[in-house]
Amino acid sequence: LRLARDRYTFIKFQDHAAPGKNILWRHDVDMSVHRAVKLARMESGLGLRATYFILLHCEHYNTLEKEVAGRIAEIAALGHELGLHFDPSFYGFTLESPGGFRERLAWEKALLEKIFQTKIDAFSFHNPEIGGWAGFDEPEVEGMVNAYGAGLRKNFAFCSDSNGYWRFQRLRDVLERADDEKLHVLTHPLWWVPEVLSPRERVTRCIDGRRDFQHRFYDQIIAANGRENVGLRPDQA
Ligand SMILES: [Zn+2]
Repeated sequence: LRLARDRYTFIKFQDHAAPGKNILWRHDVDMSVHRAVKLARMESGLGLRATYFILLHCEHYNTLEKEVAGRIAEIAALGHELGLHFDPSFYGFTLESPGGFRERLAWEKALLEKIFQTKIDAFSFHNPEIGGWAGFDEPEVEGMVNAYGAGLRKNFAFCSDSNGYWRFQRLRDVLERADDEKLHVLTHPLWWVPEVLSPRERVTRCIDGRRDFQHRFYDQIIAANGRENVGLRPDQA
């Protein structure tokens, strides 16, 4: 973050055409809003603004649940932008047969805007290779900048931690060299944990954290209602 801050100006997706040595600092929140808010606090502590793309059709978090919605609201309150992480495969949309793609995109944008009372100015595709969406490069759709749009792809160098490793270049190397005039950095909060772990172990960490929370939640509700928690072992109490 300090390297990026010293070498680039952090900008919003809406301002991607602005002149200057600019960086788009993007997070696709695929699995963990809990990790996302940790990153958001670090970034805002350094005076930086990122964009967090929220996935409504997620198998690992529910945007509407209290623990998650509160954290997404905190990310926005810290001054970061929220974007829409759109999963066309949920609807069965493909680039060949896009069906109601635009309508659903607008609907999910409106939903996020209503929940978090903030404007959603950008979207990114979740798993863009599925259904051929990696080939969709319209710069703007339904009032949102497409993070994979033609202009962005052409003008910005790209560095991503997809699947928990650097497939092309390490972010640190890219930032130390800083020879790209414009840089688009995509990281997934799930991968950014305090311990050294393999990607698979980081996924396990996330799943176990959620599992433990859900057990605690169940036990607390039973206790709060004064009911018997049948099957609760002493070591779990
Ligand atoms: Zn994704």
